[in-house]
Amino acid sequence: MATPLSSPETVVVVGGGFAGLFSALAVHERLPERPVVLIEPRDRFLFQPLLYELLSGELQSWEVAPAYRQLLSSRGICWLQDRVSGIDLDARQLTTVASGSLPWGDLVLATGTELNDFGVPGVREHASGFRDLDDVAHLRALVDDLKKRRTPETTVAIVGAGPTGVELACKLADMLDGAARIHLVERGDGILPNSASFNRERAAAALERREVCLHLNTAVTEVHADRVCFKDGTSLPHSGLIWSAGSSPTLPDIHPNPAGARAPLNISEDLRLLDHPHVFVPGDCGRCSANPWPATAQVAMQQGDAVAKALQAMDHTQEPEPFQFQDRGEMLSLGIGDATLTGLGITLAGPLAFKIRRATYLTRLPGLSLGLRSAGAWLMSR
Ligand SMILES: Cc1cc2nc3c(=O)[nH]c(=O)nc-3n(C[C@H](O)[C@H](O)[C@H](O)COP(=O)(O)OP(=O)(O)OC[C@H]3O[C@@H](n4cnc5c(N)ncnc54)[C@H](O)[C@@H]3O)c2cc1C
Repeated sequence: MATPLSSPETVVVVGGGFAGLFSALAVHERLPERPVVLIEPRDRFLFQPLLYELLSGELQSWEVAPAYRQLLSSRGICWLQDRVSGIDLDARQLTTVASGSLPWGDLVLATGTELNDFGVPGVREHASGFRDLDDVAHLRALVDDLKKRRTPETTVAIVGAGPTGVELACKLADMLDGAARIHLVERGDGILPNSASFNRERAAAALERREVCLHLNTAVTEVHADRVCFKDGTSLPHSGLIWSAGSSPTLPDIHPNPAGARAPLNISEDLRLLDHPHVFVPGDCGRCSANPWPATAQVAMQQGDAVAKALQAMDHTQEPEPFQFQDRGEMLSLGIGDATLTGLGITLAGPLAFKIRRATYLTRLPGLSLGLRSAGAWLMSR
């Protein structure tokens, strides 16, 4: 007899981040008759946009990282705590590290991204990222240590002045409270190149207020335990370095995969993998050349719902609609008690923006209610 794990009706979702979890929830809601299996090795969903608040202690881990058991138990979605190691697209079968092979009817591949060191020597050995709970623990320990030592010339370097680098620089500067100087290093000629100008200006002012030292047009060539080297031959001593310069897809071994393991998977506008109509790739690990949506939680969540709609259409032998991204604006955390937001005709910065963000998160996060999807579209936007 077919079990939910082996039935041809089963929708298997690989990866329980924003795209995978929201796909699983939406498929279960729209197509309750189809079994859904979510394969995810971590035991907690990670709400990455709130990692800064977890770092500073403004929020607690149960708010930022709710357990999958708690999120899924009442929803009839089967969670397999495992990691997918290989996928055979033609045989419609995948292999996991602990449970062996598993067939699928429709596959949602949402394994996200990981740190990309762009081949710069020393990054893997001497830099930390800012993507998960281990990174938060590591940075907290660094801040505690630097606060104990309080040597004014101490430097913390952050590489990459996109949203993560800028938001982290502000939060760390507030936490360190003068115990070390933050240096933000950026290869391009400005911060937040893809952000709304209001947010960019507010962020620049926030960095200046915190005396963050900005190095623009500065490419990193090498990272050492205590120093980072630049292309112009200069270097900067550091007591801790955080790499937020970019990411690349985290993919299991996929056959066939002509683009190779380090490239995003090519998808069409309806989010299906080219030439594989029963494989969807929402979130950061796919790329649609006709419409390169930004790699954000806002997009990933909306794509989760789009996957469910597409499966619904296919079950009625209709063609899925192209995914339409509803851009609801951008919101950035700028240090303790400070934020900026633009969108839906509003621009707002400062403590009120921070309070709105925090209050809405706190009312929406527990249980990851369906309301989170609409609130999240606004709140988690970049
Ligand atoms: C610090 C930080 C702050 C951010 N802030 C914002 C923000 O304010 N607004 C915004 O819109 N976006 C923000 N983002 C970006 C946003 O978090 C990502 O765009 C979003 O998480 C992408 O969703 P995803 O599902 O594609 O990938 P992820 O959320 O990374 O999820 C991928 C999941 O797949 C799992 N996985 C990986 N490999 C396997 C495997 N082989 N088998 C099974 N499971 C696997 C992983 O464990 C993970 O749970 C932020 C990102 C970071 C790092």
